[in-house]
Amino acid sequence: MRLHVVTFGCQMSVADGEELASPLKGRGFTAVADAETADAIVLNTCTVRQHAEDKALSLIGRLREWKDRDPQRVLIVAGCAAERLGPWIQKRFPYVDLVVGAKSIEDYPRIVEEALGARFDALAESRLGFGAATEDVEKPTGWASPFSAFVTIMRGCNYSCSYCIVPAVRGRELYRPYETVMAEARAKVALGAKEITLLGQTVNSWNEGGVRFPELLRRMGTIEGLERLRFESPHPHFATDDMIAAMAETPAVCEQLHLPIQSGSDRLLKIMRRNYDAAGILDKTARLRLAIPRVEVSTDIIVGFPSETEEDFERTLDLVRGLRPSWSYTFKYSPREGTESAGMADDVPAEVKDARLERLNALCDGLTEAALAARIGKVVSVLDETGGFGRTRDGFKVSWDGCGTAGRTVKVRVTGMSKRILKGETDERA
Ligand code: SAH
Ligand code: SF4
Repeated sequence: MRLHVVTFGCQMSVADGEELASPLKGRGFTAVADAETADAIVLNTCTVRQHAEDKALSLIGRLREWKDRDPQRVLIVAGCAAERLGPWIQKRFPYVDLVVGAKSIEDYPRIVEEALGARFDALAESRLGFGAATEDVEKPTGWASPFSAFVTIMRGCNYSCSYCIVPAVRGRELYRPYETVMAEARAKVALGAKEITLLGQTVNSWNEGGVRFPELLRRMGTIEGLERLRFESPHPHFATDDMIAAMAETPAVCEQLHLPIQSGSDRLLKIMRRNYDAAGILDKTARLRLAIPRVEVSTDIIVGFPSETEEDFERTLDLVRGLRPSWSYTFKYSPREGTESAGMADDVPAEVKDARLERLNALCDGLTEAALAARIGKVVSVLDETGGFGRTRDGFKVSWDGCGTAGRTVKVRVTGMSKRILKGETDERA
């Protein structure tokens, strides 16, 4: 039986996609990259912005035809939009077999078995004689490379950023126990992972059994065979001196930090309830760069938040100039029902939002291109993820000619770049 997983949204969502697939794999499904021939599709949705939600809903609509062609096929809709809109989705798309929201992920194996166990039995019987599907060569969507694995260390979010729907759809913070996350990381390294990314909505707020996040980094760093340790998505508030020290002291921790600023205007940061200001961000970045001189920083920025003036927007541009992120994820503000800011007038006109986004992107793209260009002529160390493609420790994608062996760390001489990827060559042999 063939299973296809489609994931929208953040890395948490990608990691959830693996968990959503797991009970089906236990039932004999094999992951495939092709949706058309799949016997089951798991659609893992996102709702953080309206656009993300719309994409998932439109895909559910298009899957009606896939489902009609063979009613034995199973369609599961999961994730954050499923949490927000569950009953509505079920009513609007009656052919969906199971809607299960993001808050239920811990319970998901039981829910899926109860709801669909008998259907899986019948499906397995009708597919007898067809032979088992072989895993497609192409990577199915929603899978991390086996050499670069995710470990979810916390779920939910205790913040209440006024624009954000995540706390409503993912619930309060829940920290997975220290022993559990260490054991999971060790098991993934034993299975061949060279890189682990720790995941959580505010990943660095994790603390459990008297162990805080910086100490977790230090202890994870002692796992034999683990070459690279990353984490996503940290909150600036918990980017403490101790966390920076742990990053600097632990050789496995990559020289990269995501510091989502959202805005550079202290007035807006207050209304957003971000509990830091622009000066605080610059202070943390200065400490970080002092402790880890080669570190690269990335960020998230929202333009067009309610009441944003030209002056506020200029402060955002200033903070970006001070922060110098090598990667920036920029978004137009999207009001989400039930959030605090949805009660404020969405008063920045669409064309002003567009124009600000364009100016911001010009600045951010320039910084990205400069960071890429600075690497031309240098030799970088790349973890080969798929045979000739991988990332540097500080987060740049690299593709190169000559041989590649997935799972190996190779030295690549950077010879050029395209818009977002470094190009190179290596003398190393497979
Ligand atoms: N937990 C992460 C963010 C999760 S959402 C953190 O705190 O960093 C990912 C990004 O989406 C946010 O950083 C923000 O930039 C953006 N975002 C969230 N809600 C949004 C909204 N309503 N409109 C536009 N962008 C939004
Ligand atoms: Fe959303 Fe803020 Fe929580 Fe991040 S910290 S998930 S932006 S509420």
